[in-house]
Amino acid sequence: MNFESELVGTEKADVINRDRHSVSRKDIAPNALKVLYRLMNAGFHAYIVGGGVRDLLLGRKPKDFDIATNATPEDIKNLFRNARVIGRRFKIVHIKFGREIIEVTTFRANHARKHQVLDGSTRKQIKGLDSAHSESGMILRDNVYGNIDEDAMRRDFTVNALYYTTNGFRVLDFCSGLKDIESRQIRMIGNPAERYKEDPVRMLRAIRLSAKLGFSIERETEKPIDELSYLLDSISSARLFDETLKLMTGGHASKTFKLLQKFQLGSYLFAPTLEALKESDTSAANLVDLALKNTDERLANGKSVTPAFLFASLLWPVLKLTIAKSKNLGLPPRTSFQQAAKLALKEQLDYTAIPKRFTIAAQEIWELQDRLRIRTKRNIEKIFNHSRFRAAYDFLLLREQSGEELQDLGQWWTDFQIGDKNKRSELIAMVTKSQKHRKKRSKDIPSKGI
Ligand code: ATP
Ligand code: MG
Repeated sequence: MNFESELVGTEKADVINRDRHSVSRKDIAPNALKVLYRLMNAGFHAYIVGGGVRDLLLGRKPKDFDIATNATPEDIKNLFRNARVIGRRFKIVHIKFGREIIEVTTFRANHARKHQVLDGSTRKQIKGLDSAHSESGMILRDNVYGNIDEDAMRRDFTVNALYYTTNGFRVLDFCSGLKDIESRQIRMIGNPAERYKEDPVRMLRAIRLSAKLGFSIERETEKPIDELSYLLDSISSARLFDETLKLMTGGHASKTFKLLQKFQLGSYLFAPTLEALKESDTSAANLVDLALKNTDERLANGKSVTPAFLFASLLWPVLKLTIAKSKNLGLPPRTSFQQAAKLALKEQLDYTAIPKRFTIAAQEIWELQDRLRIRTKRNIEKIFNHSRFRAAYDFLLLREQSGEELQDLGQWWTDFQIGDKNKRSELIAMVTKSQKHRKKRSKDIPSKGI
């Protein structure tokens, strides 16, 4: 008897043999293979599932590999010393290999079933938790173990519910995911409105995947989004931060930002920015636009992006507007700037949590904008050694590109950085001369605000 057919549920799948799909073992991360083989050698069934299989079928490099198995978290922990059980909503096992994490989940079902027959061959009884729904239909707990076909049905989109096994090198397809990959569509498994109510973040995932893969969102999957967008209100700001990061650092931030607005989802993540943009000049909108393009370009070139820079950019229009509004309060510029910075960040925190290290860094990037104008020898040295100098300089260039009039300050700093000792002295002398001619202002106090 075939090992695969021992697993209850597999009989419901379309089996795609190795000669009919493009997934190859050599494209799978060695550590993911290691996990698969160790689970299988211990008598469990284990599959690569989700984005990994989807991306390999599309000829793309997967971001990560997720594994689904009939081993329980406890079984997995017993097999791997480097395993850690985590999960707020779901029990997930992370197996760590240096910086790489392989995520392993036990097959789950969507609905309450107390005693599960998890594995047809061993008839093992496992006590799962009830999956509970809130009044609005949202899943609160979802740790009910199930068979592989049930595991497929509780996933979000058909293209994310394909399972690859190294045992025979086959792909198992439970909900016509392959057809949707071929026709390049994001299609919800089951009733879309119900599935969004269970977990509203799926609306964001539909947008993210559509932007990332260049897929259209199938009509029935797309239809309820406008009307149900308000459900995002019930999602914790911490989870929304996680999703926002994925949306903005997936390499398609520009497109994603537009799609989010098209589907009325943007205001649940970026309300302060979108509101401020309505009252701002074009340079503010340009800056947001350029920052997102810049993020995509950096990622395409294998460079890193920091959430601090991203939020500093997205909230720049909010900061500028707040400063403008507080101008007639008569506060000293520095106080007014600091208050505005705090306020801009605080407004955003109502929507997405932002870890403190990022809000601090965003504030530093903003504060350095004014300090970059004061080019005395002493100040230059201090700024140059500031850990946030590079980000602040990049931000300055972005401001110039967006159309802010900064008297070639960006170019000055570019020349200064590439210049030799003589050139640097020359550049300092140049500004010292012109600064002497100007009305003397107190050194460290921001001159005109921003
Ligand atoms: P990426 O390429 O960004 O990693 P992904 O589809 O793999 O995309 P993950 O967040 O890594 O996304 O999730 C792995 C898999 O878990 C998904 O492919 C999907 O099958 C399932 N999944 C994730 N989030 C949800 C959700 N909110 N509802 C249902 N299934 C989900
Ligand atoms: Mg993934």
